[in-house]
This record gives sequence, structure tokens and C-alpha cells, in this order.
Amino acid sequence: MRVETVVESEVVELLARADICPVCSARSKAVDGWIYGAFYNLLHNEDARFRLKSGGLCREHSRRIVEMAREKSDIGSLPVSVVFKELLFGQLNLIGPGERKLFKRVSSSRNTGGCHLCEVSRESEKRYVIAIAKFFDSEKIRKLYEESSSILCIDHAREVAASMRAATVEWFVTLQKSKIESVIEMLERYIGKNDYRNTSPIGEERNAWLTASRIIGETRVTGRNE
Ligand SMILES: [Zn+2]
Ligand SMILES: [Zn+2]
Repeated sequence: MRVETVVESEVVELLARADICPVCSARSKAVDGWIYGAFYNLLHNEDARFRLKSGGLCREHSRRIVEMAREKSDIGSLPVSVVFKELLFGQLNLIGPGERKLFKRVSSSRNTGGCHLCEVSRESEKRYVIAIAKFFDSEKIRKLYEESSSILCIDHAREVAASMRAATVEWFVTLQKSKIESVIEMLERYIGKNDYRNTSPIGEERNAWLTASRIIGETRVTGRNE
């Protein structure tokens, strides 16, 4: 895939989006862009077909292809049927006693499959983590993130923190924690307001669980429930 530099205006746009992780958002956009580019003109895109066929598809991305084919009438189900048929036909030969060695199921853990769209996703993820860490050197971009309700998810916040200059880490960790704490407070308010003794109406905290679903990471948490 084309590796282009992430420009400031792109980061500004990503950081302006409410309640969503800029890296997750850029990553989905890259995957959707690849799917669109591949399926829009599939019959003339040998390279895309080859890539899809050689790595197979993880469940998440085969689901995304279906969603996009449904949403976009200029893709539709025909090119998707062509690729899915090719994939199944190729994978069919992997079943059988003689093929035991070939039929090695890819690990189900994150980012380890052969799926080409996972590769597209990983590549853009890496690029945006590095770019955002770098742009946080700029006062203007820092201020933007401080004032925006955009929020890096736990996993990407960890990666951004690890990629940034030591001088910026403290600012970032303090801000990031306070953003996450405000989501926790919002969840607490929502939970509290569902108590039968509560009489005040439920407001913006009604959507806190959706924000939380987008920022929870795969990081292991030890210790007992609080
Ligand atoms: Zn993220
Ligand atoms: Zn995938």
C-alpha cells in the first residue's frame, strides 16, 4: 500500500471528532478506503484479488466488506461474491488429512492473522500513532486535543505515549487520564441515576457506555472489582 506522510490538517481533523479515538478512526478509514478501491473495480484489480485470496479474511473484515457492499450501491454484492467464491474455492483444498500441515489456523489474537485488511489496518495504525505523537510537540495541536472531546483509546494512548518525546509524556498522560476519568464519572452518573431512588433525569451520560466501548483496550487489568 501507498505510504504517504500524515499531514497536520489530517491530524487536526481527526482530533476534532467527538468521542472517538483518532487512531481507530484513521485506521477504519484506511480499511474502508482499501475495500472501496478494491471492490469498486474488482474485475480489473488483479492485485487486490490476489492479496485478498492469499491471506484469507478475518471475520471482522469479511463482515466489514459485506456492510460496505450493502451501504454502497456502486460496490454491491457481485464483486464480493466473486472474491468470496475464489476464497472458498482456494480454502476448500486446505481441508483434508493430507493437508494437515497446511491447515494451520491463524492465531485469533489481535493483529496476527494473514488477512490483508488486518495488514492495511496495522500499517495505518502505526503511521498515525507516530504522527500524532510527533504532532503533540506542537502547542497548537496539544491545545486542540485538550479542548476537544476526541479521546485516544487505551491501547493507542499507550502506543502514543511510548512514541512521544519525553518532554511531552507528562502532559499527555495527565490529560489522557483526565479524559478517561470523565468517561468513568459519566458511567457512574448513569449507573447512579438508574437507582430507583433517583429522581433527576438522565442527560448526556446516557451515551457514556458507547464512548466507553470505543476506548476500552485489550490491556489486562488485575485486582478485584471496585
Ligand atoms: Zn484507538
Ligand atoms: Zn482482518
